[in-house]
Amino acid sequence: MSRVYNFSAGPAVLPERVLREAADEMLDYRGTGMSVMEMSHRSKAFQAIIDQAEADLRTLMGIPDNYKVLFLQGGASQQFAMIPMNLMRNRVADYIITGQWAKKAWQEAKLYGQANAVASSADQTFSYIPDCSDLPISENADYVYICENNTIYGTKFHELPNTKGKDLVADVSSCFLSEPVDVTRYGMLYGGVQKNIGPAGVVIAIIREDLIREDVLPGTPTMLRYKTHADNGSMYNTPPAYGIYICGKVFRWLLDMGGLEEIRRRNEKKAAVLYDFLDRSLLFRGTVVKKDRSLMNVPFVTGDAAMDAKFIQAAADAGFVNLKGHRTVGGMRASIYNAMPLEGVEKLVAFMEAFEKENR
Ligand SMILES: *Cc1c(COP(=O)(O)O)cnc(C)c1O
Repeated sequence: MSRVYNFSAGPAVLPERVLREAADEMLDYRGTGMSVMEMSHRSKAFQAIIDQAEADLRTLMGIPDNYKVLFLQGGASQQFAMIPMNLMRNRVADYIITGQWAKKAWQEAKLYGQANAVASSADQTFSYIPDCSDLPISENADYVYICENNTIYGTKFHELPNTKGKDLVADVSSCFLSEPVDVTRYGMLYGGVQKNIGPAGVVIAIIREDLIREDVLPGTPTMLRYKTHADNGSMYNTPPAYGIYICGKVFRWLLDMGGLEEIRRRNEKKAAVLYDFLDRSLLFRGTVVKKDRSLMNVPFVTGDAAMDAKFIQAAADAGFVNLKGHRTVGGMRASIYNAMPLEGVEKLVAFMEAFEKENR
């Protein structure tokens, strides 16, 4: 067996410990004589799995009691519609456009009401986070929306916007559990788990209770109401059970290592190895304004598309895979999520140094 260093933006690398545990439990989950994939979601064994997963996530993030944790499906993209359907009571919301995912959410919201783009970094190909200290927030906005970490462009809000008292809704798909957060600063945060937590198919939404209401937009399907899922412990219908089980193992892995303070320390150290190299390299350079750099997604280029392609191929041959940038931006992108070990980034940098010597 040989494992590569997988720099995919998502679905992405998972902790080896989690994969081994899942393998050990594949045929017989703790004396049940079956795999978690095969068991009823109404069984005692599965109820214990989802309860423990929620409890561990609450501990990790310090989620207050007045927030619900929902395990949903449909990907982060389903939330682009579900959020306005459930939260746009005045049919007005303000969106900050820092990349493709924020833009898609904004466009979807326009199907339901007046969605205003109150700030954007499109003018510089989303390579920075706009100043959000004094935005023209709408008087009657139901919420202010951000994509907190921009997976494709490699930027992160290191400071949350001033929403002038409006509820903040954040897509945290690609920075979920990468560092401590103050949940009380959000009305809602959510993410697809396939970037930093688990297998594709699970979306976790953390929502303040007063935002989970009956009076959603007319025509909102039962399955797309937060209340449906909140009232039924995320089991109105069959939940993505196996995915939730893997997420639970990742939560436990994080708790055992010391929680989100510790993973932040590791992530900062890991990202510094790559950013420091990019800053001194004569061949490669990062594409993002320094103060807005993401800890999770690191885009870089040589400035020559043919050289980029040569590098991506050589890296893949050496066991550093999925370094190709998003199809809309080109160049390279190293996603260095929680489960990417420091050693993987150190080896990548050593490889880049050698490639640079040979190709300059
Ligand atoms: C990947 C990603 C999405 C889309 O996720 P799906 O689960 O494929 O819908 C949305 N937002 C962000 C920030 C992402 O990284």
